Amino acid sequence: MVVSYLGWEQEYFLVDSALYPLRPDLIMVDRTLIGHNAARNQQLEDHYLGSIPERVLAFMRDLEFECYKLGIPVKARHNEVAPNQFEIAPVYEAANLANDHNLLLMAMMKKVSERHGFKVLFHEKPFAGVNGSGKHCNWSIGTVSGIGLFTPGKTDTENLMFLLFVVNVLKAVYDNNALLKASVLTATNAHRLGANEAPPAIISAFLGDQLVQAFEDLLNSKDMVKLKGKTSYSLNIPQVPELLLDNTDRNRTSPFAFTGNRFEFRAVGSSANCSNAVATLNTIVADQLKVFKEAVDKRVASGTPLMQAILDETREVYRASKNICFDGNGYSDEWKAEAARRGLDCETSVPKSYDILVDPRPSPSTRGPAS
Ligand SMILES: [Mg+2]
Repeated sequence: MVVSYLGWEQEYFLVDSALYPLRPDLIMVDRTLIGHNAARNQQLEDHYLGSIPERVLAFMRDLEFECYKLGIPVKARHNEVAPNQFEIAPVYEAANLANDHNLLLMAMMKKVSERHGFKVLFHEKPFAGVNGSGKHCNWSIGTVSGIGLFTPGKTDTENLMFLLFVVNVLKAVYDNNALLKASVLTATNAHRLGANEAPPAIISAFLGDQLVQAFEDLLNSKDMVKLKGKTSYSLNIPQVPELLLDNTDRNRTSPFAFTGNRFEFRAVGSSANCSNAVATLNTIVADQLKVFKEAVDKRVASGTPLMQAILDETREVYRASKNICFDGNGYSDEWKAEAARRGLDCETSVPKSYDILVDPRPSPSTRGPAS
């Protein structure tokens, strides 16, 4: 059986609870509507790179202790880029459990922050002029026996399995990019997406040089050959480094980045429940894998050996989903024009984005392979 895993990263702001009541806008809509920029904000990133303020550290420690009592495996804590912005992240867990734990954590944060004279803000964009908050979803799938399906292996067969699953994710995200965006767009998150920070409001995937090279090599690789005097085959799979370079910080502008053994979906809002995003990812990938399996079965029925059929279909799916891959600057105007040319969804209006949820037309993947 295959299960999905999730490791979320929760960003938030802290405001002194004595100052909070002075801002009716914060009280009523969770963000400031009037005022001017601070004389000094995040230009030098001194808050990001500095140490955690004592008072905040006391809150974090208290919060972590409460989390451990509830079984939430929180691990990382650090300052974020904007003044008084912070982040907390756990060790990944099975997706449903991780999501429950995130909701429990948010409730706990409200409670514990009050003990320390803070008001915690989960709004995606409480202050203009400085970064907003997100909830990166580190998502992966694996077998219950412990095999990570986005983890490169040692042998040809393991690497083919790795490439197969990655490529099917690309195809699913390509075919359903509008649906995936609708799964994370909210009125509050729209203040952050596409606002020259966090990810842009166009879904694309970032693979990193090493993986792109592996896929390009796969397109040009020779077919498998039967090993002399043996029943097994040499698959001629391109080399995939066993440990891919950690791409995490290579392209911060990508909303959906491959980061070594998982995908990091960065478009989820800090106030959101990640179940919508993860359920959408799981559904579109399961759907695409079904289409892939049917296409492989067809090739096998017409006489192609199984491994060759998988190899051929993997190449085909990569060729058909290349358009979702973009390694450049996701904030640039050139990308917006290029994304439109590639047929990616560029809608930024939240209500209009939701139209896809009631669109009766099947996504391209469910129409079956082009061949
Ligand atoms: Mg962060």
